[in-house]
Amino acid sequence: MSVSDLKPGVIYECQICRSKKIYEILDLGHSGLCDSLLRKDDLNKYEKSYPLKLFKCKNCHLLQINYVVDNKEVFHLDYPYKSGITKTLKDLLHSTSKYAVKNFEFSKNPLAIDIGSNDGTLLEGFKNQGFKVLGVEPTNIAKLANKKGIKTIQKFFDTKTAQYIRKKFQKAEVITGTNIFAHINKLDSLMKGVKSLINIKNGIFVTESHYAVNILDEMQFDSIYHEHLRFYLLRPLIFLLNKYGFKVIDASRIPNYAGSIRVTATLNKNIQPKKSVKKLINQEKKRGFYSEKKYKQYANKVIKVKKDLTELLWKLRLKRKRIVGVGCPGRSITLLAYCNITSQLIDYIAEQSSSLKLNMFTPSTHIKIIDEKYMIKYQPDYALILSWHYGKNVMKNLRNKGYKGKFIMPLPKPRIIN
Ligand SMILES: [Zn+2]
Repeated sequence: MSVSDLKPGVIYECQICRSKKIYEILDLGHSGLCDSLLRKDDLNKYEKSYPLKLFKCKNCHLLQINYVVDNKEVFHLDYPYKSGITKTLKDLLHSTSKYAVKNFEFSKNPLAIDIGSNDGTLLEGFKNQGFKVLGVEPTNIAKLANKKGIKTIQKFFDTKTAQYIRKKFQKAEVITGTNIFAHINKLDSLMKGVKSLINIKNGIFVTESHYAVNILDEMQFDSIYHEHLRFYLLRPLIFLLNKYGFKVIDASRIPNYAGSIRVTATLNKNIQPKKSVKKLINQEKKRGFYSEKKYKQYANKVIKVKKDLTELLWKLRLKRKRIVGVGCPGRSITLLAYCNITSQLIDYIAEQSSSLKLNMFTPSTHIKIIDEKYMIKYQPDYALILSWHYGKNVMKNLRNKGYKGKFIMPLPKPRIIN
């Protein structure tokens, strides 16, 4: 049976192996969509929210949410994310091309395709290395990429789009996708599309997915939201790729998106896998990631964090301290909604002046997002770091800009930093 192309609604079977043996690990309540921010006049209207639960498959060990929101609603045209926005992120995205060129051989003028290419930052890296590049991106950010000179087709990637590309361009020697295995609901169509586009002899398919080991080890439950349908250990990734005739030849942990796994696969059966593949599988097994006990412990820890964080914030609030949030990445929406941190607790969320999210409100919790200049001017007592996965950098930047108050780090363990 093929991997499922999901339809909106509740999911009753594993998204990649179709086993019915999926069970609940975490219940994060209901939440609005993290990149569908509200405008002021939305605040008094009916508001959509969706169940947010984490499940695990007993058969292939895939972690997954059990409710699908329509892709068009999640990745709407005005999706506000721009990948090239910070220097750190830019460097991380350029590391994919450096990795490919260092480890594999390509012909002259090869083509690199990035699926879900956002503003084209990742492809810029390949372009710098002499590749022809082509992005596929469904949202209006595609226009921005084209303006920058990264040729981008504004479409969802599926077998149809693949067919279109095959007709108009050449086969690709590199196809990349960062977080596509988490994002795309038509996984079957995606895999068939990639297979039809990749050069069989020396083509590589490089994917980067948020690694389930990091999500558990570092309490990154806030990265669970409706855009992310699945979370991967290496084992289910191999299962998925094998199903479509791909052989996994390399796997490594990378720092991108607060801990990802980069997996390289090929259709060429003669290429031998590196030792890294077996090594990571052994580590996952040894550390109990295939056992249920690990996930029970995790769920208990998540509940404890919720209790500790809200207690801390309420205590400060009752002492009339002013608390603001800092940074509003997608994951902050889950953290705020799950811990019920509303505008009763936090005055506003500060974002950098270039952010596309300014003057909008968080779904579910209704906190206003404003220019961080305001925060520097009025010096609140505490700054809750919502982009805590880049916490050190965020704190350093704010200090440089003149913020003198204290910081609160919400995860992995809520704590105050002077
Ligand atoms: Zn499964």
